[in-house]
Amino acid sequence: MTLAIIGAGMAGLSCARALKQAGLSVDIFDKGRGPGGRMSTRRVQVEARELRFDHGAQYFTARDERFRAEVARWRDAGRVAPWPAAGAEALVGVPGMNEPVRAMAEGLDVQWATRIERLERRAGEWVLHGAEGAHSGYTHVAIAVPAEQAGPLVAPFSPNFADRAERTTSEPCWTVMACFAQTLPLADTITTGDAVAWAARDGAKPGRSGSESWVLQASPDWTRDHLDLRAEQVAEQLLAVFCAENAVEPARPIYLAAHRWLYAKAQPVAGEPALWDAALGLGLAGDWLLAPRVESAWISGRELADRVIAESS
Ligand SMILES: Cc1cc2nc3c(=O)[nH]c(=O)nc-3n(C[C@H](O)[C@H](O)[C@H](O)COP(=O)(O)OP(=O)(O)OC[C@H]3O[C@@H](n4cnc5c(N)ncnc54)[C@H](O)[C@@H]3O)c2cc1C
Repeated sequence: MTLAIIGAGMAGLSCARALKQAGLSVDIFDKGRGPGGRMSTRRVQVEARELRFDHGAQYFTARDERFRAEVARWRDAGRVAPWPAAGAEALVGVPGMNEPVRAMAEGLDVQWATRIERLERRAGEWVLHGAEGAHSGYTHVAIAVPAEQAGPLVAPFSPNFADRAERTTSEPCWTVMACFAQTLPLADTITTGDAVAWAARDGAKPGRSGSESWVLQASPDWTRDHLDLRAEQVAEQLLAVFCAENAVEPARPIYLAAHRWLYAKAQPVAGEPALWDAALGLGLAGDWLLAPRVESAWISGRELADRVIAESS
């Protein structure tokens, strides 16, 4: 069995680690420049300082026994820590939210900056086509990318899988990253706004620099209403709305940027937490098969691995 996984986010790497533990060799491809996916951390240099922003997932929880065991290992290694400001069970990566994904990628063969655009089935094997060339010789392929990106990849081979992906829609999210010279007179987390559905003093998370760095997440409605605006305009507008919603003086940031997540949070349709077609050697995993959460992505990846392992033994 020779396996390829497309997508090295929480789901793809959870799948890959379980497969590796079972003695199977896996090649992983991800279009991103480094570990994170929707748990990314952006690093920027402002004058002599390095700023970091968790501009995707803000925190996560762990209720599933298997995931709790994984999280306990990350905690022991100092790679995650509790963040009580977001709730009694909230955890974050340290020093950035991408740290658990980075931990999972260690020791695995991940080819970053490699987007897979199309799959081909040739003489019983899978060929993965990317902009830089083809990757061939795989008997099995697992796809762990958002539903909207998985659908077109599987459609030529599995109408059933494509249907599940196409029936899943994701909410977009404009996210603003802002850093200020002065402390804003606000709590570390704010969840009460209409336009800004979530705001957090990112710099106050455990293991951060303590800078006055904020992450503002627009509501799905506000995001849809401003979907095609330029990032610079979104950054200015959402910051102004945030200041107005929270009755603080419009503050002048020393850093301001916006990122648009087109597929931030999936609204899953009911069904299995991972999809596997043994005859084709094709599988799907991802949060969109379960719930729009870090833990669900991890569980989905593990469920897919269990099905692959059952077939190989
Ligand atoms: C703004 C925002 C806020 C969130 N807040 C929370 C929160 O507070 N708590 C929580 O639990 N969850 C939160 N989430 C959801 C959480 O981030 C996701 O559930 C989880 O990270 C999904 O993991 P995944 O592996 O399924 O997908 P992803 O993390 O999206 O990983 C997919 C990977 O596939 C790669 N990829 C995609 N297409 C291709 C291709 N064609 N070729 C190669 N590689 C490809 C991508 O680069 C990516 O690394 C949030 C998400 C966003 C965006």
